[in-house]
Amino acid sequence: MDRIKMTTPLVEMDGDEMTRILWQMIKEELLYPYIDLKTEYYDLGLENRNATNDQVTVDSANATLKYGVAVKCATITPNGARMKEYQLKEMWKSPNGTIRAILDGTVFRSPILVRGIVPYVSNWTKPITIARHAYGDVYKNAEIKVPGAGRAELVFTAEDGTETRELIHEFRGPGILQGIHNTEKSVGSFARACFSYAVDTRQDLWFSTKDTISKKYDHTFKDIFQEIYDTEYKAKFEDLGIEYFYTLIDDAVARVIRSEGGFIWACKNYDGDVMSDMVATAYGDLSMMTSVLVSPDGVYEYEAAHGTVQRHYYKHLKGEETSTNSIATIFAWTGALRKRGELDGIRELTAFADKLEQACIRTVEDGKMTRSLSLISTCENPVILNSLDFIRAIRATLDNLYLLK
Ligand code: NAD
Repeated sequence: MDRIKMTTPLVEMDGDEMTRILWQMIKEELLYPYIDLKTEYYDLGLENRNATNDQVTVDSANATLKYGVAVKCATITPNGARMKEYQLKEMWKSPNGTIRAILDGTVFRSPILVRGIVPYVSNWTKPITIARHAYGDVYKNAEIKVPGAGRAELVFTAEDGTETRELIHEFRGPGILQGIHNTEKSVGSFARACFSYAVDTRQDLWFSTKDTISKKYDHTFKDIFQEIYDTEYKAKFEDLGIEYFYTLIDDAVARVIRSEGGFIWACKNYDGDVMSDMVATAYGDLSMMTSVLVSPDGVYEYEAAHGTVQRHYYKHLKGEETSTNSIATIFAWTGALRKRGELDGIRELTAFADKLEQACIRTVEDGKMTRSLSLISTCENPVILNSLDFIRAIRATLDNLYLLK
């Protein structure tokens, strides 16, 4: 077959450790043979972030704004140990945080379902997508460790100098304090991203907060969602026969567990952080979770939800065999290629993305998988493959799918 031509480049953000190794294998085995791959390459590996004083991360995010679609490999977020390991000039911020701040997006995470890997919650037969607000709250907080007795107040000074005050607490002894914020603009973007994604994927949207306790903060989230729904999306939802539904977070948790899945659950920043790990684990494996950042201007950045799989990388460096699951990283590529195909009207590219995803799922359903998948699979005699052989097995399935056509 002729290699598929692309018209607009994908923004390619390379990353670190084991996922960087998989990245190269995926391109060589599963992309170059089929696509005349056009990318604008940014090396977000920690060494290059350090060499460019992290400018490369900012440049890659700006390129994403320019072209509209990016695919990102997992990257190290430095901590004390990484400072020493990579002799860093500074403890560079999380690239994901920097990119999210520039794109102002919402992160959608969905599990990849495969027959033979049964969710811990047995009635979850369809994927649950978590939409996490990616700005503010406890992630942009101000904190004080209170040394002793004193009065804590929340003070807002308007531009004209007028002050609004609210007593937080009269401390009688040491304690802790935290101030958090959000903006109507960001919550509005979050709401629009969720409603648009629900329309795009034709799924119901659930949203939950703790508005009974937080009568101004969380209630504002609820009100903004309702107003945007009523004025901009209600008609579209009704046309498609999908539903928007708000409930308290504790009620949502109970309903989610009883549900069969197949909807989007929009969560505030912290709730989404926690719930996405719970949902990923309950579906079986973090390495089977996809993630896409969608900005309010319709810019998309696709990645795997997992990290750089550091432990496997150290084995790889010692020359030992690894069996790392590349499926979520492959799905980051297929998500990005499909979106590029849709935007540029290249049907072959969209069809290729569908086929490659199908090939990943079939390979596992045929009993060929990586070690971590074999541990949770009901398949009786799984064939456990190393990282490269697993990718090659997917390639063989893909070739078969093309032959069958
Ligand atoms: P991790 O996701 O790399 O690993 C967590 C656990 O899941 C490990 O036991 C790992 O072996 C297993 N695992 C994850 N993906 C797997 C896969 N594809 N195949 C087989 N097993 C898999 O997270 P971590 O160990 O907490 O972090 C390692 C590095 O990744 C850190 O430096 C962290 O900063 C970074 N990180 C990056 C991102 C990102 O770029 N999106 C996300 C999380 C962590």
